[in-house]
Amino acid sequence: MALSDPVKQKIVLQRALNKLVCRKCGAINPPGAEKCRRCKSRNLRPKKAELKGKRA
Ligand SMILES: [Zn+2]
Repeated sequence: MALSDPVKQKIVLQRALNKLVCRKCGAINPPGAEKCRRCKSRNLRPKKAELKGKRA
């Protein structure tokens, strides 16, 4: 699925950035979460904005 619309692409990117990934179980948590919703770990990291391969 290619996102041809640059506006949509931006939104998708921002949403990806706003997520927190649990270092313990890898679950995606909502922005602002203090604990993992799956394993309750506080070991969360922000999802990185790395664009592998594709460049806007
Ligand atoms: Zn977790």
